Amino acid sequence: MLDACYDTSVVQSAVDLANTLKPVRGEDFLESVGQLHDFLDDHPALGPVKPSEPAEQHAAGARWSLTEEDLAEVRSVRETVRAVLERASTDAAGAVALVNDGLRRSRATPVLRVGDGGWRTEVVSGTDRCSAHLAAAMFGALASVIATLGPNRLGACAGPNCRGTFVDLSRNGSKQYCTRACAHRVSVAAYRSRNNPG
Ligand SMILES: [Zn+2]
Repeated sequence: MLDACYDTSVVQSAVDLANTLKPVRGEDFLESVGQLHDFLDDHPALGPVKPSEPAEQHAAGARWSLTEEDLAEVRSVRETVRAVLERASTDAAGAVALVNDGLRRSRATPVLRVGDGGWRTEVVSGTDRCSAHLAAAMFGALASVIATLGPNRLGACAGPNCRGTFVDLSRNGSKQYCTRACAHRVSVAAYRSRNNPG
């Protein structure tokens, strides 16, 4: 099974981090330390912090005393994650260079863990920085998707005025829109313009 190579909830957390920025609408949902805490609370798959730590039940956000510096660093990781997602299908070499650089800078280290589904590899950071922890996990997951499914599975929404990012883990891999709502909006607009030309 290909999906044994990556944790789908970590893949999704990378997409969710990129999508905390809505570039077309100019909205940003990662502007405060509180919002960073909320993001981590909503993504428990990103824990635990250190390879030596046992998996904990409590939310990931509770494990860090986060500062403005952490926020700035995570925002910088977000910029790279978004660039990888936006570029992968048109500039695979450029996206892969960003992934490799992100892995190196976060001192990413592969570790073996056992879970409900058996053994799996995960990538963790060799540092205690929150941003490095997120970078190692997310770039590790994106690297696995690229290696197993190809760079075309990463993308930005084809809907006008969107630019939401996605990773397509489906069987046929034909995703073009970030959400069904976006695909629906586009098909409704196409239908209207067919029926009301000019
Ligand atoms: Zn969209």
